[in-house]
Amino acid sequence: MKNTRISTFLSAFQNRHTAGEARSAVNLLVFQLIYLVLIFCTMILCLFVDRGERLAFYLLLLGGLMGIVAVALAFNLRGRYPISGWLTSACMVFGPWLSILLDPTVLAGDFVPLIYIGMSIQLCSILLSERVTLVISAIQICGVVAAVSLSPALRAINWPSLIAFIVFTSVIGILYGFTNKRQLAQIEKQRNQLLEDEAKLRELSVRDSLTGLFNRRYMEETLDRETRRATRKQLPLTVIMTDIDGFKVINDSVGHVLGDNALIKVSAFLNKSIRASDVACRFGGDEFCLILPDCSLEEGVLRANSMRNDIERLAFNPNEEGINGITLSFGVAALPDNGVTREELIGAADAALYSSKRAGRNRVNGKSDS
Ligand code: GH3
Ligand code: MG
Repeated sequence: MKNTRISTFLSAFQNRHTAGEARSAVNLLVFQLIYLVLIFCTMILCLFVDRGERLAFYLLLLGGLMGIVAVALAFNLRGRYPISGWLTSACMVFGPWLSILLDPTVLAGDFVPLIYIGMSIQLCSILLSERVTLVISAIQICGVVAAVSLSPALRAINWPSLIAFIVFTSVIGILYGFTNKRQLAQIEKQRNQLLEDEAKLRELSVRDSLTGLFNRRYMEETLDRETRRATRKQLPLTVIMTDIDGFKVINDSVGHVLGDNALIKVSAFLNKSIRASDVACRFGGDEFCLILPDCSLEEGVLRANSMRNDIERLAFNPNEEGINGITLSFGVAALPDNGVTREELIGAADAALYSSKRAGRNRVNGKSDS
């Protein structure tokens, strides 16, 4: 239950970010929460350790940092990863420097805040671009060298080792951050490729390979769904079955390749003749099925008749295709007039198509049973 709530929150959170930033945004969110807890614990520690002005200074500094991280967290929650990353990095960079410059004990020999510089560089390398990280790192390391050379007390400690420590941790951090970012980019690229391949496969699995129309399996699933929807919403739905007249003769006279071309041409014609919300499928061979949601039997018969008229005018280049013209026979059935299930509607439309064929072809047949 708890896990479900967390994963629901995380998927909603990731959806607010661009695909390329979603993973990094989750990492940043976790870091921001930990950072807030750590600042809070440090404040409590200060209450026990520091006194007077120093206590007030650190409470103010930590309180300010906490406020900025909270704002950064809010930006992150709203899907604004870049500004959130910048604000969080700024806290990590300016926190130690404010301490170094404003707390007199640091330049008087308390070198510990200098160690945090390495951590800020590591964080920048994760959150900011490579170029920005390198610039910020260079400026900070120059700042450390300047602080050490300006403070006699800091010069008195083992400063070469201190600077070497900061530089080494920074370099390791930068290398890790950059590698991590490249790997994330690679994973993202592979994920996008997989999603693209999956979409292509899904598309292939519902399409007829010759004509590009939807295949019979997709038609059956769609019609099952659409009949349920139409019944629930008390809306009409029309199914039109259509078949090319005398296609066997055409095929025999021009050959299968040109016959295929004719099938492609008729399919494109049918697809163009329907609305965007309608579905055109190749039922098999030279037979097609059109699903017309929100369309009554009368409207369906009218639309089939207009297609029947138009297909006669569909131009075939005699030299190229050896076909002078094509006619179609139609059978129309509708919900609720002729049935309410896929099987009933397909059966009724097929029977109506058969009647059109028997009556001489190149005609539309569709009538109410009730
Ligand atoms: P009818 O008017 O009664 O429909 O006569 P018809 O000759 O069209 O008869 P029918 O619909 O039964 O014949 C369909 C023909 O379509 C048979 C087959 O040779 C041809 N056919 C089926 N699939 C393909 C295909 O993918 N490509 C080609 N070129 N022809 C096909
Ligand atoms: Mg036929």
